Amino acid sequence: MTEIFTGNFTQQEPIPEEGIAAAIDVMRSGRLHRYNVAEGEAGEVALLEKEFADQLGVSYCLAVASGGYAMGAALRAMGVGPGARVLTNAFTLAPVPGAIASVGAVPVFVGVTDQLVIDLDDLEAKADQADVLMLSHMRGHLCDMEALMAICDANGIRVIEDCAHTMGAAWKGKPSGLWGAMGCFSTQTYKHVNSGEGGFLVSSDPELMARATILSGSYMLYDRHLAAPAPEVFEAIKYHTPNVSGRMDHLRAAILRPQLKRLDQQREAWNARYQVLEQGLADTPGLSLTHRPESETFVGSSIQILLLDWEERKVHDVVARCLARGVELKWFGGAEPVAFTSRYDSWRYAPSAPMPSSDRVLASILDMRIPLTFSLEDCEMIARIIRAEVSAVFQGG
Ligand SMILES: *Cc1c(COP(=O)(O)O)cnc(C)c1O
Repeated sequence: MTEIFTGNFTQQEPIPEEGIAAAIDVMRSGRLHRYNVAEGEAGEVALLEKEFADQLGVSYCLAVASGGYAMGAALRAMGVGPGARVLTNAFTLAPVPGAIASVGAVPVFVGVTDQLVIDLDDLEAKADQADVLMLSHMRGHLCDMEALMAICDANGIRVIEDCAHTMGAAWKGKPSGLWGAMGCFSTQTYKHVNSGEGGFLVSSDPELMARATILSGSYMLYDRHLAAPAPEVFEAIKYHTPNVSGRMDHLRAAILRPQLKRLDQQREAWNARYQVLEQGLADTPGLSLTHRPESETFVGSSIQILLLDWEERKVHDVVARCLARGVELKWFGGAEPVAFTSRYDSWRYAPSAPMPSSDRVLASILDMRIPLTFSLEDCEMIARIIRAEVSAVFQGG
């Protein structure tokens, strides 16, 4: 009998009951705007920022409307403006080059290795082309962060980290988001915590954070924050920084607070599923997986399968055959993007010279999301299905 998987790849877990109760309280109060607080009340957003800052071990945190907004605000806070060039990953998702384009700047794409991290040799070769790097930890893969920072420091490049897939991850124990000058997180439904839309910006640089806070639309109410720089820091910049509204509201903050508390537990749950898939797919002829370095604490919320040097027709075949058995693989490398774009040659507003070794890797990537609504047994079955279909096509089927 042919096994068919019947789970849903886009079904997330429910919001914790504690968050639902807190959200109802916010709605009953009518005070949804972050600065609409009663006498003596901190408000859900300020509490959320404080809790996330403490959890990460960083001085400042600002909650915002989306991960994309956080990246745009980070660029603006650093003074990146029209015509500036910003280094970024050739393999990432559309909001990353989009954030660069949103401030009128121009993405300069840096290649990807077969471990799906930024190619540090290519970064070094392009280091004289920009003074900011928007580093995307795409699909949760962290590069050697010490080596990356050494290259950036030596070349006067400031780093913004896109941690949309690395909330809860670390390199050598230091959390993702704290390596660069600013870290950006997303709390959108398909990331590690779910408020529908939302994001965070973190930093230990008071001036950058004061600018980002004014940018986000704090008016002159920044003293109501609990994880913001001291009021003096705002004095120098408050009349020179435009308001580009992108605040978070109490309703989203209320449902996020209990989710942040269980982030470590969620990481373990994701990694248990990742491990089952990794083991089930190991040594499948024609298929390679990335090797996760010991220094990397990752969150296995998705898995990437590489079909290196396969004919396009055969990759399509694998995707179709897996789908027929209920397993949704996204071919990130397809020349015609489906649903979303993830490779540099899709962003034609930012032309780039071709990068053959990156193209080889990009063309090979199949991606699978791992919702926590899947059980370990589900993951075992999914691995069996992928293994069988990849093997059948590889052997000429
Ligand atoms: C989702 C995502 C973002 C942006 O997050 P939004 O909250 O959707 O704006 C940024 N980078 C990557 C890699 C993402 O997947």
